[in-house]
Amino acid sequence: MGAGAYSGRGDGIGESGEGLEETLRKIGSAEMRSALGVLGEAMRVVHGRMYSEGVVQLMPIMISPITDPLNHSVFDASIDYCGTKLELTKSMILHKQLALAGGLDAIYIVSPNVRLEKPEKGESGRHLLEFVQVDYEMKGRSMEQVMRFSEELLAEIVEAVRTRRGQELGALGRELRAVELPLKVFDSHELEREYGADWETAVSEASRMPVWVTNHEREFYDREDPARPFTYRNYDIIYPEGFGEGLSGAEREWEYGRILERMERKGMDLGPYAAYLEVARKGLLVPSAGAGIGVERLVRYCCGLKHIADARPFAKVPGRPLVF
Ligand code: AMP
Ligand code: MG
Repeated sequence: MGAGAYSGRGDGIGESGEGLEETLRKIGSAEMRSALGVLGEAMRVVHGRMYSEGVVQLMPIMISPITDPLNHSVFDASIDYCGTKLELTKSMILHKQLALAGGLDAIYIVSPNVRLEKPEKGESGRHLLEFVQVDYEMKGRSMEQVMRFSEELLAEIVEAVRTRRGQELGALGRELRAVELPLKVFDSHELEREYGADWETAVSEASRMPVWVTNHEREFYDREDPARPFTYRNYDIIYPEGFGEGLSGAEREWEYGRILERMERKGMDLGPYAAYLEVARKGLLVPSAGAGIGVERLVRYCCGLKHIADARPFAKVPGRPLVF
């Protein structure tokens, strides 16, 4: 390594770049190979189940004038292309809705997401700046139907990892329990009353099975129950043993008036969403429900990893130095 090619970074990589070999060695380590074996098993199950249920795979969108506005603030991740602002994909939710509007019935994407999370998130153990979702959406399905589909998918993944990747789990010292269905379902407001604002950590640490938590107030596109204002037809899977949230999903708003009201309630700038809103105004969006499973968080849970940084090579942890 050329002396002076790297400045001191505070991450064990010195001025002359010593430590870079260590960074590369970690990629080929027994732990990472085991995590990658588990990842491969999980993705094999995902593709198999989607295929057998007729869910069509789309290739990911990585740049677009619009992306998920998210429910929390992140640093700007847009680029300028000849005077047009293009967002790096935060999630494909809006494109999932548009693909169904275009006539597809059930879709999934292995979707890279870029979210430039605030540096303090690095300590959560479960945030990266880039990660991958298995993101799916199904026309005409209800919340209950997608919850069933999702928990069965999770149980099948865990079963495959347990039975076919015992060697990898052994190398990691992980005892992964089989998922017992159906998962228990809780309402986020009940949990907040019982455990306070950080109910997610409390519930995750207290559980030995993944659980569902429904009814979260968040982005405009998660459907508000028409019969119960300020109640939302959305759902998260919270992993047990402190691993926290692993999946988020919802029934979607599809009616123009509802979408407008929800966007205005959030105080959103409607300008960037003009084309999406035009599709909604024409009545082309369709009722649907879907979800997204964070792949690195899934690997972390299956493998029992302390930090999500160990769930993939080239992990980018908020607030930590970025090398490759
Ligand atoms: P969301 O729709 O924001 O809940 O994202 C869907 C899923 O992606 C979450 O349930 C997580 O599993 C995963 N995820 C979200 N943000 C991150 C992040 N910054 N790093 C890693 N995984 C994430
Ligand atoms: Mg979420």
